[in-house]
Amino acid sequence: MTDTLIKVDLSDSPYNNEKIHNRWHPDIPMVEWVEPGDDFRIETFDWTGGQIKNDDDASDVRDVELEQVHFLSGPIGVKGAEPGDLLVVDILDIGAVEDSLWGFNGFFSKQNGGGFLTEHFPEAQKSIWDFEGMFTRSRHIPGVSYAGLIHPGLIGCLPDRALLDEWNTRETALFNTEPDRIPALAALPEDGGKAHMGKMTGEARDAAAAEAARTVPPREHGGNCDIKDLSRGSKVYFPVYVDGAGLSMGDLHFSQGDGEITFCGAIEMAGWLHIRVSLIKGGMQKYGIKNPIFRPSPMTPNYKDHLIFEGISVDEGGGQHYLDVHIAYRQACLNAIEYLKKFGYSGAQAYSILGTAPVQGHISGVVDIPNACATLWLPTEIFDFDIMPNADGPKIHVDGSVDMPLAKDL
Ligand code: ZN
Repeated sequence: MTDTLIKVDLSDSPYNNEKIHNRWHPDIPMVEWVEPGDDFRIETFDWTGGQIKNDDDASDVRDVELEQVHFLSGPIGVKGAEPGDLLVVDILDIGAVEDSLWGFNGFFSKQNGGGFLTEHFPEAQKSIWDFEGMFTRSRHIPGVSYAGLIHPGLIGCLPDRALLDEWNTRETALFNTEPDRIPALAALPEDGGKAHMGKMTGEARDAAAAEAARTVPPREHGGNCDIKDLSRGSKVYFPVYVDGAGLSMGDLHFSQGDGEITFCGAIEMAGWLHIRVSLIKGGMQKYGIKNPIFRPSPMTPNYKDHLIFEGISVDEGGGQHYLDVHIAYRQACLNAIEYLKKFGYSGAQAYSILGTAPVQGHISGVVDIPNACATLWLPTEIFDFDIMPNADGPKIHVDGSVDMPLAKDL
């Protein structure tokens, strides 16, 4: 019987669980110790700690407290792990919690978090996704269902002091180039009473919370990479910076498109992971590793057919940009949204499909001046109807009276 090292009570606040934390800092104490070769289970909250409800009102998305995120389970100490090693993590399995078989997707309001297409979708909206075994479907977005490509959006090891200082220095410098920008250029350290520092208490807790890194961006240690292919069956190699490594994880996704473009997020869920850890001593130098590397799962949804949308680095106003893949991918996404609207979807529903379905994003060309080319690969088989173009033109297949909820008082 595999031990569950971290348990969570979804009816209770994550702040009451000292095996949870929501900041990165080298002094956060290990909550459990394991041996290399051990396998164990870890339970996780959803990334917001239960702030988003299974209902038809997006007020919770609009009013979400982003100072609270992300709630992570850990850190787990691995005996014998030292700085410079690689921590090998086999993700043996991942699942949803029996009494919480649903997830959420949404867009944050531009005033509170925003998202990849926040200029086009500035209001908070959400969709709820029910899990039917390995499949998911939403009452707010008819006509699609997907097989889950379940993965932790966020997983990585504790930074050491030098790495934490480096993060804070470079992110503060970027933030200060445009300190009033909405959304902000970077999420800098802030306690505000919302930092959860695990078992830390008193003055030590307060001092660490004031400088602890937010969990928002991916960094050298992995962290919030939001890689859909880091699914069950994957093997991941993480750089180790502190004795014991300090592995933490959370932000489980039932399914996600490349880019996690909707930001509130993929199909977000609470759940559990079954993992095994081992070590490669001195592995960082042996293999020239700076950022994690991984091998994907041998099992992935078998969607072979795609309709592929191209985008180039010319913005919505016709402005020319130099080899900018961010703008090129945005155009590919906007082109896909316009196309899906022809079948009856609202823009919001189409945007949500791109954020949640196993959509692939590719950097197709970055050398043909002045335009980068990005492509968005939309699986055709996830739709209940034919979405391919034909001589008769698109048919409306989606009930226009069904849309994603807004906040109640808007
Ligand atoms: Zn997420």
